[in-house]
Amino acid sequence: MRPARHAMLRMAGPAALRAGARANDVGMMLRAMTLARHAARRGEVPVGAVVYRGRTIVSEQANDREATGDPTGHAELAAMRDAGRARGAWRLSDCSLAVTLEPCAMCAGAIVNARIGRVFFGAHDPKAGACGSLWTIPADGRLNHRPPIVAGILARPCGRQLTSFFARRRQERAASREASTSPSPKASRSTTVA
Ligand SMILES: [Zn+2]
Repeated sequence: MRPARHAMLRMAGPAALRAGARANDVGMMLRAMTLARHAARRGEVPVGAVVYRGRTIVSEQANDREATGDPTGHAELAAMRDAGRARGAWRLSDCSLAVTLEPCAMCAGAIVNARIGRVFFGAHDPKAGACGSLWTIPADGRLNHRPPIVAGILARPCGRQLTSFFARRRQERAASREASTSPSPKASRSTTVA
């Protein structure tokens, strides 16, 4: 069950509220976080995205680059693609997008091309973000579509999903490196006997 409206607004964080986030947008971000969590279990970098119109989810997706081998398989791009297909129209100006991580340059370009109405994202991406961190593509005055961007909804939990995923992956890789460099049980037994 979803938390009560006021609890959801508290979770959004003050900056996101000042920027115009509502309880519905926070609820959609929680849904995107669930999708991200499921993606992590499949070994994908945990990012989730929901395209919605009012209270109705039009499409939802998570990162699927590992499963598909598709370099463009980012959650929000896949969700926008599905939304356009579902509606039989590429123009999504009456829709909002909630995504757990700041969109990259590719996805920010797609947001402009899809004419997404409003963009909400969770954690900033200082290495590749194109909605405020490295670039601010959807706010570029040279483009003909500039959707409002609300940054930092549930930023901490969204960021934690990613940092804990990468920490776990580093641990697993270190463990498998260690296993492959240490002598096998058989070899060490024979060494002991000798
Ligand atoms: Zn992207």
